[in-house]
Amino acid sequence: MAPPIRKIVIVGGGAAGWITAGLIAAKHRPDGHDGLKVCVIEAPDIPIIGVGEGTWPTMRMTLKKMGIHEADFLKNCNASFKQGSKFCRWQRDELQDFYYHPFDLPQGYNEANVAEYWLSTPDKMPFSKTVCAQEHICEHHLAPKQITSPDYAGFMNYGYHLDAGAFSVFLPDHCIANLGVEHIPDTMIAVQSAGNGDIAAVETKNNGVIAGDLFIDCTGFRALLLGEHYRVGLKPMTDTLFPDTAIAVQMPYRDSDPIQSSTVATAQAAGWIWDVSLSSRRGVGHVYSSKYMDEEKAVDCVRSYLGLDDKGLASLSVRKLSIGSGYRETFWKNNSVAIGLSAGFLEPLEASALMLIETTANMIADNMPTTRDAMKIVSKRFNERVHGMWKHIIHFLKLHYCLSERKEQFWLDNRSPESMPETLKEDLALWKDQTPWYDELNSRNEVFPPASYQYVLYGMEYKTVLNPRGLPNHLRTLAAATFDSVSSKAERLEPLLPTNRSLLKAINSN
Ligand SMILES: Cc1cc2nc3c(=O)[nH]c(=O)nc-3n(C[C@H](O)[C@H](O)[C@H](O)COP(=O)(O)OP(=O)(O)OC[C@H]3O[C@@H](n4cnc5c(N)ncnc54)[C@H](O)[C@@H]3O)c2cc1C
Repeated sequence: MAPPIRKIVIVGGGAAGWITAGLIAAKHRPDGHDGLKVCVIEAPDIPIIGVGEGTWPTMRMTLKKMGIHEADFLKNCNASFKQGSKFCRWQRDELQDFYYHPFDLPQGYNEANVAEYWLSTPDKMPFSKTVCAQEHICEHHLAPKQITSPDYAGFMNYGYHLDAGAFSVFLPDHCIANLGVEHIPDTMIAVQSAGNGDIAAVETKNNGVIAGDLFIDCTGFRALLLGEHYRVGLKPMTDTLFPDTAIAVQMPYRDSDPIQSSTVATAQAAGWIWDVSLSSRRGVGHVYSSKYMDEEKAVDCVRSYLGLDDKGLASLSVRKLSIGSGYRETFWKNNSVAIGLSAGFLEPLEASALMLIETTANMIADNMPTTRDAMKIVSKRFNERVHGMWKHIIHFLKLHYCLSERKEQFWLDNRSPESMPETLKEDLALWKDQTPWYDELNSRNEVFPPASYQYVLYGMEYKTVLNPRGLPNHLRTLAAATFDSVSSKAERLEPLLPTNRSLLKAINSN
């Protein structure tokens, strides 16, 4: 029988390294001398990227699987609750132009496609406001839960905004103390190959040679195993997703600032600004294309967005990052798999990176090959599946850009058909006549459900001409009742839910 997979070596200790370590260790906890051993080699003098602050609701399950108490996470990571994204000025550069992509599905979604009915109503209110109470909750900066709600449960679906620096201390501490993950603070300096092309071991500066059976590349943009050692190329995506640069600042709260319940993404002349509310400060950044805007102008957009003068901005430290979108041609090669920035990067418009890390780490944990022979099959399936996911995310991100009516060249070029994936052009043609809905022929729904497409499409005022066959009567009745129940739900919850600020204050003072 082929020798079993026993030792997992993770190179890199950013969010990708520690989430992967935690999920694998939680599932295959070492038991005495037996079981899987998980170690993380983390270079003490190479900093993490430190800017990923928006998460999906998947993060609740990730933390729960690792045995973390929600309040401990919230307190230690300066975290707050995120209930979706608010997109401002994407359709037109006007103050009143905004829509939500909330985490909750439209009310009644599992029974019927209420978007069809919404399209048929004259003088309609905005889509996200009509079909989901979460927009109202977010506009009032309310938390998704009460102080008495159990861990990871709430009245509304939610993820978090977290302080990436604090998370990178909290998570390793937990994984080392409670999940038996071995931490090797050292720098990998070389790879030792086996005869079959696998990685047999990695060499470190101070801890010698570390052998393993599966090597996970979490070295960030350096991609030392997949990129540098195996020379697996990156498929660039900047012809579709134009932004290639980001500038980021950390902004202290002013007294009157609320802790927002959503990530606010405000469109700019050549990109967009993210605004993430933590419990302790705001994280704000401008993602833009250097082809259409220079750094000075991009910084000025941030200054103006924050309502600061030059002196005010100078008091904040501004970080600049290169962030061209692209992904690896292969993620898992031989006995090495890339997770996190080493696998690729897509602009953080829907904060999909940490979700992809969680999903791919779970795939590995759940399908952990027992032998090297089994790894061949698992890695082939992993590559197919994960490639699909990257393509689906790109398809969805591009949708946000190509429906805009903004007049700047960046936006005009974003609408050119040459910049759109063929699948998106096809979908847009289909959606002229019918709304996005469950479609067994379409695997794209595995990352973003049809509801997400509806929120963006109708938030951006896309014109779907109603089905000429007409609406079935039962749908009319059901949808009308559903829309009433959305407004009554919002009215019922408003007095029950605390503001983010008051709930986080109560949690942090316990
Ligand atoms: C501008 C911006 C905004 C973002 N916003 C979001 C967001 O809102 N939501 C979201 O989900 N994601 C976001 N992301 C992505 C997110 O930040 C990353 O996916 C996440 O932090 C994972 O990074 P990582 O662990 O792969 O890499 P890194 O954080 O770069 O970690 C790399 C690790 O590798 C180690 N290392 C490197 N070389 C060696 C070596 N030779 N030996 C040993 N160790 C080594 C380093 O020490 C470090 O620990 C954003 C990214 C950017 C750039």
